[in-house]
Amino acid sequence: MTDYPHLFQPLDLGHVTLPNRVLMGSMHTGLEEVGDFDRVAAFYGARARGGVGLIVTGGMSPNREGGVLPGAAGLFKPEDIANHRKVTDRVHDEGGRIAMQILHAGRYAYSPECVAPSAVKSPISPFAPKELDEAGIEKQIADITTSAERAREAGYDGVEIMGSEGYFLNQFLVTHTNRRTDRWGGSYENRMRLPVEVVRRVRAAVGEDFILIYRLSMIDLVPNGSTWDEVVTLAKAIESAGASILNTGIGWHEARIPTIATSVPRRAFTWVTKKLMGEVAIPVITSNRINTPEVAESVLADGCADMVSMARPFLADPDFVGKAKAGRSETIAPCIACNQACLDHTFEMKVASCLVNPQAAHETELVYAPTDTPKKIAVVGAGPAGLSASLVAAERGHAVTLFDRASEIGGQLNMAKKVPGKEEFFGLIDWYRTMLGEHGVDVQLGVEADADVLSDFDHVIVATGVLPRDPGIPASGDVQVVSYVDILTGRAEAGDRVAIVGAGGIGFDVAEYLSHAGESPAENLELWKEEWGVSDPAEHRGGLEPDGASPTASPRQVTLLQRKAERPGKRLGKTTGWIHRASLMSKGVKMMGGAEYVRIDQDGLHIMTSDGPGVIACDTVVLCAGQEPERSLENALEGSGSTVHVIGGADVAAELDAKRAIDQGARLAAAL
Ligand code: NAP
Ligand code: SF4
Repeated sequence: MTDYPHLFQPLDLGHVTLPNRVLMGSMHTGLEEVGDFDRVAAFYGARARGGVGLIVTGGMSPNREGGVLPGAAGLFKPEDIANHRKVTDRVHDEGGRIAMQILHAGRYAYSPECVAPSAVKSPISPFAPKELDEAGIEKQIADITTSAERAREAGYDGVEIMGSEGYFLNQFLVTHTNRRTDRWGGSYENRMRLPVEVVRRVRAAVGEDFILIYRLSMIDLVPNGSTWDEVVTLAKAIESAGASILNTGIGWHEARIPTIATSVPRRAFTWVTKKLMGEVAIPVITSNRINTPEVAESVLADGCADMVSMARPFLADPDFVGKAKAGRSETIAPCIACNQACLDHTFEMKVASCLVNPQAAHETELVYAPTDTPKKIAVVGAGPAGLSASLVAAERGHAVTLFDRASEIGGQLNMAKKVPGKEEFFGLIDWYRTMLGEHGVDVQLGVEADADVLSDFDHVIVATGVLPRDPGIPASGDVQVVSYVDILTGRAEAGDRVAIVGAGGIGFDVAEYLSHAGESPAENLELWKEEWGVSDPAEHRGGLEPDGASPTASPRQVTLLQRKAERPGKRLGKTTGWIHRASLMSKGVKMMGGAEYVRIDQDGLHIMTSDGPGVIACDTVVLCAGQEPERSLENALEGSGSTVHVIGGADVAAELDAKRAIDQGARLAAAL
């Protein structure tokens, strides 16, 4: 008997039966572009071994012009087939199934060669696309079809045709990107001709015994997006053209509404997919912010879909399905939807990984081999670096004792979890607690580990973290001057007018914390929809509220400052920085760059800018001016005879984040 009866019900597709209702959604890892397909095979093989029902690969372009950028992975040369065969063979050897996603980027292609229904440049690309003529459209259909045939030849169990997120096929559907007057534009019947024709031709080419998923945009979240009637009309036509499954796409990439970030409530869009249930006879998949077996089960039990797609959760834990099946969901490493090591890496042209699981997409390079020589290891500091080092060392067979002077594990994660929209950190800390127990780590909380306590260990790992930097602004009068630690731990209460000194990740977090009151929108879907202006696509085109967002007012007047003359937030993660900025702007938070801090007195924070002197009237100044390494223990251990390693913020505080801390802890422990 399983805890998740809906999740573990087989899905009969006619020629094949999937063992469960979990699809690993398409993700770009950048591994194919590295060109080492043994590594690609190791990545997908690990996920297949974990028991997922069906895997979909990252997007493969069907031709040069359709690639997301020059050199993007694809399957348009016959010689590519052998590489893809390595992947499909590995997945099949592990007992899994895999479909290849065919992704034509259209005007989203980062290339001067990009093509589209009309020559309308996208707001997220510097390149204006070339308008395709009739022969050009025929070529795209032929290339997509050939790519599907090659996928079959390479051993894939099916293909997913990417028709959502504002990519090429999606661009034909709406009038703001399709201004054509021929048979591919004008009426909706004409605008949907291309996606339907693509599905019809692919089905004819690959035969009946091949899975054909079509990813359909169910809520565009852009002005002049599709109506719900159009979505249903397209879904029915795609079914008639031969699709086996419909997958859900949410929002175009140019949409100004977050769709997968951690501040988006869990299962935020399953209500949209549910509207399609009963309109078509083929299975319907839902997606976005589904990250635990419990959430996935509830989505299916509520009749929102026939199957769930999860993507990033399979970076965090390749064994998601197997652990759920075994009734051990508390041991599943949770995806916290931070994007820091996956999507942000993709935008930085780096191979993806996972903040929670540094082995993701690095399976062949970061190996946690059992040790032949177990050692006694002390780890001091139960923040992300120390937790990661403890777990990996213990998993490898070392005897690990983890010390922290605090009464709970988590370190700075305990502050992050207090920020509205970052509630996923609670689950991450819970997971670490569970796993420390699983691996027999001796956790000593409330203990000040000094040189005496540590004298008995072969290795001491110093993960003592950071101390907040005091920028030394002269202060007098009764304005309250506190650090972010005081605010986020509840030691201090901010007044009604707040100046935040420092606009890095923590300054933004504190601004978010201070500009919210009441329930976090991340935990209340209706509130979140109001905050961002999301409505039912059956009522408004594209699912956008015509009156825009209606955020709840900030309980405080907040000003966020930095010395650099650039736009505050410029250095935040590429895929989430815009969300933080938009959220704070909607709360009336003022953001200022180019400020020198002069002094604090009864009038507030005095600054100097290029416009001359000024004063930010406030009753509280919160210092978020970066951190310094906390190294006192390392100094005390000098000459003690122990082998000492320093990791995380205690090593380098500048630009520290949980991703680097966890990765460094894991890599050190893998080498001991
Ligand atoms: P940070 O990102 O390095 O920002 C420090 C801020 O303090 C900057 O705005 C800096 O701007 C200012 N500053 C530095 N020295 C100063 C001084 N002497 N006087 C006045 N201001 C000074 O560090 P953080 O905000 O403390 O965050 C720490 C790490 O955690 C960061 O790497 C961050 O990425 C990570 N984090 C990430 C997130 C996330 O959402 N991804 C959230 C929280 C934290 P100026 O020098 O221009 O004044
Ligand atoms: Fe999830 Fe963050 Fe890992 Fe990406 S990096 S898979 S968002 S936990």
